Amino acid sequence: PRTTAELRALDAAHHLHPFSDTKALNDEGSRVIVKAEGVWLTDSEGNRILDGMSGLWCVNVGYGREEIADAVAAQLRELPYYNTFFKTTHVPAIELSAKLAELTPPQFNRVFFTGSGSESNDTVIRLVRRYWDIKEQPEKKVIISRRNAYHGSTVGAANLGGMAPMHAQNVALPGVVHIAQPYFWGEARQGETPEEFGLRTARALETTIDALGEDRIAAFIAEPIQGAGGVIIPPATYWPEIARICRERDILFISDEVICGFGRTGKWFGCETFGTQPDLLVMAKGITSGYLPLGGVMVADRVVDVLLEGGDFNHGYTYSGHPAACAAALANLAIMQREKIVDYVADDAGPYLKAQWSKLAEHPLVGEAPMLGMVGALELTPDKIGRTKFPDVGKVGTLARDFSFRNGLVMRATRDRLIIAPPLVISHGEMDELVARAKKTLDDTYAELKR
Ligand code: PLP
Repeated sequence: PRTTAELRALDAAHHLHPFSDTKALNDEGSRVIVKAEGVWLTDSEGNRILDGMSGLWCVNVGYGREEIADAVAAQLRELPYYNTFFKTTHVPAIELSAKLAELTPPQFNRVFFTGSGSESNDTVIRLVRRYWDIKEQPEKKVIISRRNAYHGSTVGAANLGGMAPMHAQNVALPGVVHIAQPYFWGEARQGETPEEFGLRTARALETTIDALGEDRIAAFIAEPIQGAGGVIIPPATYWPEIARICRERDILFISDEVICGFGRTGKWFGCETFGTQPDLLVMAKGITSGYLPLGGVMVADRVVDVLLEGGDFNHGYTYSGHPAACAAALANLAIMQREKIVDYVADDAGPYLKAQWSKLAEHPLVGEAPMLGMVGALELTPDKIGRTKFPDVGKVGTLARDFSFRNGLVMRATRDRLIIAPPLVISHGEMDELVARAKKTLDDTYAELKR
């Protein structure tokens, strides 16, 4: 086998990394992950690292599930590939469609399969257009999204997203408008309560619909909790107000559940945690716990009824409903149901972790330490009281993230906000370990800043 140095050299010579400054990364050398079990990663030098991010928010049932590996292997032997185009289908896609209809909220009985979250959001753009065309309201084309949203990296999905650096490297689509995100810590006015702020940001949807004209608005898209944008858990007033606006206005509501779906917030889907009624529900990641790539869009009956009037929908991917990926999803969902993982998040692990995590807010470096279900953040700040930010945005966050890795914990940094989203099956002992390592990371970062 190759040594770590050899692996790093090959990586540096041949690999362009996503979302990385590959040149800087090559100077440092990538960490090579070779194995994983439960919530633990092992790198090529034998270090064990607690994966506080479930990979990229996806390994909900934890690593090393033989049951999923066996289901995939069996499927690859039986029927490794067939498509679902042109009047054909196969058993794993059929079984998974029915399972998703059972697990998602009652308005959903149909799924369109894709290979990823990005492809799912591109699919949504086309489904929404098609819906309004069939309804003979083709002027309804604008999709309202939110600043700092992340909806994926394809050209379409990146347009829906609200991250400035991604727009700078993208082809701009017409008809996407971004409104405020419910980021209380970072964006509330002096003296504003979370409740007031939640209502004010939600009402930006209404004023934008009025400003542009309801007859031009096709849809509103949002993540129940913004993930990559920094784990932005909205104030309690936000989602009920959004739900009211969506009910009163003739627009479609799209819930991007790529992160929040499949148990992350303590219910099967984030829209159930926050009491919204989406017309389209976007899925990926946790559907297979990341064991194979798969995504999908659940379409509510009232939308399906219209779409079915429209004849051919000229859209689809070679891997829409890939048999092995569907088999992985079925095995993954069977584990989630059998082990009652969603209940574990809601009633046991979620409250247990939150109780300890919240205490990190007492650290001199931390402005707030929100957590819901199995997803949380630490806002790093030079001034807890004045809620100010560090001058060189992102520098302290990156410093802390790197300390965390050295302390054997994967956390992610969005600007100067640290994020965790561990596998949903994490044990009490492992949560204690996670919090201890996060605390040490804060201490190390604080000491470094004082030097
Ligand atoms: N939507 C959300 C909310 C996401 O967090 C992501 C990925 O992180 C995506 C969409 C894109 O998914 P993928 O990377 O599978 O294309």
